Amino acid sequence: LIHQEIATGLRLGLDFGLIEAEGIDGLIVDLDGVVWVGDDEIPGSVRALNTLVDRGVSIVFLTNDPRGSRDDYAARLSRLGVPANSEQILTSGSVLASVIRNRHGNGASTYVVGPTALKIEVQRAGLLLADGAQARDAVAVAVGAHSGFNYDELRSAAQAVRGGAALYAPGRDATFPMPDGPWPATGAVLAAVETAANSRAVVVGKPEAPMFELAQSRLQGCQNVVVVGDSLESDILGAARVGLSSILVLSGTSSLQDLDDESRVVRPDLVLPRLANLIPD
Ligand SMILES: [Mg+2]
Repeated sequence: LIHQEIATGLRLGLDFGLIEAEGIDGLIVDLDGVVWVGDDEIPGSVRALNTLVDRGVSIVFLTNDPRGSRDDYAARLSRLGVPANSEQILTSGSVLASVIRNRHGNGASTYVVGPTALKIEVQRAGLLLADGAQARDAVAVAVGAHSGFNYDELRSAAQAVRGGAALYAPGRDATFPMPDGPWPATGAVLAAVETAANSRAVVVGKPEAPMFELAQSRLQGCQNVVVVGDSLESDILGAARVGLSSILVLSGTSSLQDLDDESRVVRPDLVLPRLANLIPD
C-alpha cells in the first residue's frame, strides 16, 4: 500500500479515491483521536465512515478504553450518525474476555478487578464471574482501573495469582488525561497487583496482537484490510506486528515531529491529516 509515498516523504491529503485505487475492502479504525476527541467528532469523520460503508467497505472499531462496553461505543457511534452494532466494536475489555475464554475455556472462573463494563464483557464471553470470596479458586484474574479499587480487591487478586491463576490486563497505560491533569489508569492498578502477586500480566490491548487478530477475524472475507489510527506506539506498531498496512492520522496523539524521529522503527504506509481525507470531497 503506497509504500513509495512514505519512502519519498509524507503525502498529506489525497486528490483521488484512495480506497478504490487500493482495493481496500476492510478497515480497522481506532476511535479516540480518529473518529472523536473527547466528546467531539473530528470534522468529517462521520461523513467519511458513511461513505466508506456505502462503497462496501467493512469496518471494525477499536478502543483501548475498557471503561465502556461495546454497546456503549456502538450507541455513541450511532448517536454521532454512524449506525453501528456491538459486533463491530472491540474494546480492550472485550478482547481480554475473549482471550481468557479461548485460553481457559467456557465457564472458567475469573476474578475481575475493574469497572462494571469489564465484568459485563467477562460474563458475555461465557466466563464465570468470581466474587472476592471465590477469588482463590479462580483460574484467571483480570485487572482494569476503576474508581472503587481497594485493598480487599488487591489482596484477593494477589492471592488468586499466587494460588495459580493467570493474570491479564487490557492495557498498561499508567494514566489517562483529564482536565485537572492525569488520573491513575490500569497500569497503575496493575502495578500494585503485579507487585503484590510477584507476577507479570499478559496484556491484550493495542499494540499487542490479540486485539488486531480478533479484528481481522471479524473481517473474514475481506481481501485488503488496513488499520487507521492516531498513535504510532499503539495503532501503527500493532498493525505492523500482525502484518497489516496502516494509515496514521494526525488528529490525535502522534505528530509529524514524531514521524521525523529516526529512533522510531515503525512507520505507517500513509499519513493523512484526518480520517475525512480518505474520501475525496
Ligand atoms: Mg487513538
